[in-house]
Amino acid sequence: MRKPIIAGNWKMNLTIKEAVKFVEDIKYEVSGTDVESVICAPFTFLKDLKGAVEGTNIKIAAQNMHFQDSGAFTGEVSAPMLKEIGIDYCVIGHSERRQYFAETDETVNKKLKQAFKYDIVPILCVGETLEERETGKTNEIVKSQVVADIAGLDKALVSKLVIAYEPIWAIGTGKTATSKQANEVIAYIREVVKDLYDDEVSENIRIQYGGSVKPENVQEIMNEDDIDGALVGGASLKAADFIKLVNF
Ligand code: PEP
Repeated sequence: MRKPIIAGNWKMNLTIKEAVKFVEDIKYEVSGTDVESVICAPFTFLKDLKGAVEGTNIKIAAQNMHFQDSGAFTGEVSAPMLKEIGIDYCVIGHSERRQYFAETDETVNKKLKQAFKYDIVPILCVGETLEERETGKTNEIVKSQVVADIAGLDKALVSKLVIAYEPIWAIGTGKTATSKQANEVIAYIREVVKDLYDDEVSENIRIQYGGSVKPENVQEIMNEDDIDGALVGGASLKAADFIKLVNF
């Protein structure tokens, strides 16, 4: 059985004070569920948030990290730095990072390996553009990303990985893929993982959908067989909405 995982990706929003209050507001409401709740926050919030979630089952994620341990990489944050404050998850390869910060499958692959080296579970984001979907290239694109991004990872690590299928045309646009469209691609990703590894890995790996998920559509999405959770941007910024998302 795969444990459902709902992750809020705050992007570059909120303040430390607001973030800590958010956790105070949600902690009792999300702790009674068998859903894993994850908050993906800006770097400067992480230490305070780790303190705020102590004693709860809420996990804290970074939104990015560098693939080297240390060195002359001005402005970057490393996996050992995240591990030092007990970070559990890290979003890797979000489409905004691929689009605005020149991330490639090659750097994403290095970051996945680096995260696992420090026992941080990556939430790997993949997804197609609108043009790619409209020209029938969705599966081809998603497959090439998954194959390149997880290259060289062994079976035990891939079983722990979380993949977020996020069609770029559905992120922050209010356009959600239908739950059927999302499930089709996610089932296909499971097939790709099965071909690369085996049945066991493909059945264990958790795959989320992301793209304009909100309290009103989360249940329909979560009802699909192959979808194990959601990565949520805009609708994860209000505590009341996050509570509804986790209690779908
Ligand atoms: C995201 O940031 O990963 C995302 C899916 O955003 P939104 O929910 O706002 O579309």
